[in-house]
Amino acid sequence: MAVFCERTAADPGLLARPDVQKLTPYQSARRIMQAAGVTGEVWLNANESAEAEPMAPETKLFNRYPEPQPEAVVERYAAYAGVSPEQILVTRGGDEGIELLVRTFCRPGEDAVLQFPPTYGMYAVSAETNGAEVVNLVTSPDRGWLPDVAEAAKVLEERTDVKLVFACSPGNPTGTLIPVGMLRKLAELTAGRALLVIDEAYIEFTPANTAVELLKDYPHVVIIRTLSKAFALAGLRCGFLLSSPAVIGMLRKVIAPYPIPVPCADIAAQALSPESVSLMHRRAAQCVMRKCELEVALEDLDGVEAVYLSASNFLLVRFVDAARVFTALRDRGIILRDQSRQPTLENCIRITVGTKDENERLLTELEEILKEAA
Ligand SMILES: *Cc1c(COP(=O)(O)O)cnc(C)c1O
Repeated sequence: MAVFCERTAADPGLLARPDVQKLTPYQSARRIMQAAGVTGEVWLNANESAEAEPMAPETKLFNRYPEPQPEAVVERYAAYAGVSPEQILVTRGGDEGIELLVRTFCRPGEDAVLQFPPTYGMYAVSAETNGAEVVNLVTSPDRGWLPDVAEAAKVLEERTDVKLVFACSPGNPTGTLIPVGMLRKLAELTAGRALLVIDEAYIEFTPANTAVELLKDYPHVVIIRTLSKAFALAGLRCGFLLSSPAVIGMLRKVIAPYPIPVPCADIAAQALSPESVSLMHRRAAQCVMRKCELEVALEDLDGVEAVYLSASNFLLVRFVDAARVFTALRDRGIILRDQSRQPTLENCIRITVGTKDENERLLTELEEILKEAA
């Protein structure tokens, strides 16, 4: 007989898994701003593209379910990435790819993921929400935040529960590239034990450094891609996992039956046409140029300790007093991403490259704020 419990009757949230009850909900920048009572005008916090072209879906009737994996999108992305269609899974953003990997390869309460902080927050979020332990090997700015391969080898020797190793290149929030040679070493080390997941969300800003060649030699390597950054389609929610047919086949069993809505598939296919891809390359190249200008201007400011070399569409900047800078800019309607709480990133703020006007406004306000402090 079921026992009536007043506590859970009043708050059915208490019926949720205890580990889920302990989680802190994701705080979007928009929510943080609302809580602070500010309306942001310049959003340089989410590494979105500052520029985009208008797009519209072709389909007008939606009574039918979509294709489980939209063929045109798969074919075009395969051609763009230089892999075969069987090596691709289309997902709802790169984030769904991360989630699927954890759900497919980690047993809740038993398996673990390995990551190299400071790094992208969703690896830990997906692991934690699915009951997988997170093993951290913190990297150091003195070594360009590169993973310590020997340390990783030791962890993989010592524990057999690590099923996924996440390496982000270019790194978010560091902007650092992991050389393909080093990723190859990690691939050697993980073979037969764990998947090596290489997150290439920003690879369009440095296309020569892709690790896609590793897919030929290592069926356990997975590459994460997205249309959210250089393709200027963060609102579309479309990403990709590239791997061997063996890994993709497993992931297909776990992904929802119709994950990609028809309008998204339409627009993704358009974004992957040869003309749109060359537009994307041009946009990315211009963004890289604005990044260099911003980098030089930031380095000149008092109150800036370091501007780190970045291979993507953002800069990581160490200030003398990041909390003050972040709040003062926020109160002037400029929203950045505070990274101070990540290991080794005390006083660091991540700044997405904006339009020319946005970057100029940021620099003007920053100069004023830093002068006040001096
Ligand atoms: C933005 C980002 C992603 C994926 O974002 P989606 O919008 O879900 O495609 C994945 N990894 C990193 C490091 C990112 O910065």
